[in-house]
Amino acid sequence: MTLSPSSKPELPMLERRAEARRDPDWARVAALDPTTRYVIARGTTHLVHRGTPEQIAYLNAAHPTIGALPESQLTLLGWFEGYRVVLAELPEDTSLTVPGTEYQELRPLLSALSQGEAEILGLARALGIWRSRHRHCGVCGAPTEPRNAGHVLRCTNDACQAEFFPRIDPAIIVLVTDEDRALLGRQPGWPRGRYSALAGFVEPGGNRHTRSRGRDRHASHLGTVPGFTGVAVSRLDHAGLSCRRQTRTSASGWRAGGRALVRTGADSV
Ligand SMILES: [Zn+2]
Repeated sequence: MTLSPSSKPELPMLERRAEARRDPDWARVAALDPTTRYVIARGTTHLVHRGTPEQIAYLNAAHPTIGALPESQLTLLGWFEGYRVVLAELPEDTSLTVPGTEYQELRPLLSALSQGEAEILGLARALGIWRSRHRHCGVCGAPTEPRNAGHVLRCTNDACQAEFFPRIDPAIIVLVTDEDRALLGRQPGWPRGRYSALAGFVEPGGNRHTRSRGRDRHASHLGTVPGFTGVAVSRLDHAGLSCRRQTRTSASGWRAGGRALVRTGADSV
């Protein structure tokens, strides 16, 4: 007997419920709910249970470290398995330790976590990077402060009040093939034997086609991959957009950094 796709069990995913971010009292409500799960981030690492399978180590509001964090260090991520999930960003010098847990870098974790928890940490990391790089207003230079449960940063200068939102940088990765061969590249610092299809950013005013195909050989290069300069390609197939499931692939690092990765295939000419 075979199962149709619709009969597969639904995997729990993060419900973002963006409308809940408008509640100015969200952090206090979250703290009063003993079932609220706090995801811990410290620098580029996250707190997870030690051992396999990897799972996020959640804390609750009763933990003194969580209780002492200002609201500016908290972001409402959504609901997972019916529970509210809040990102708690600890200062890098925080010495919080919890028995049976450890801090791990995100990239290797993404391939080991469940799909739902990988999405939670992918979102947490993307928001953390964005917030850390927008501490000051790009218009007047005044400090920014979080609004909308951490999903908007607003300038504190009353004469300015510019708002900043998380951004996604479009990028592409192209597998260039020539019959049964594929063109791969590697960076000088990579471990021996590690190669990748070629990737690059989409520049303003361009699109994935102009980045990878172009009208001439010069236009076909991918700016961040020097080895791709001068490679002309013909067919360009759209193989997918890096999103939930594909965070479990090598594309994970791209998405976690706020980049949407379009996967394509192309024939060399
Ligand atoms: Zn400003």
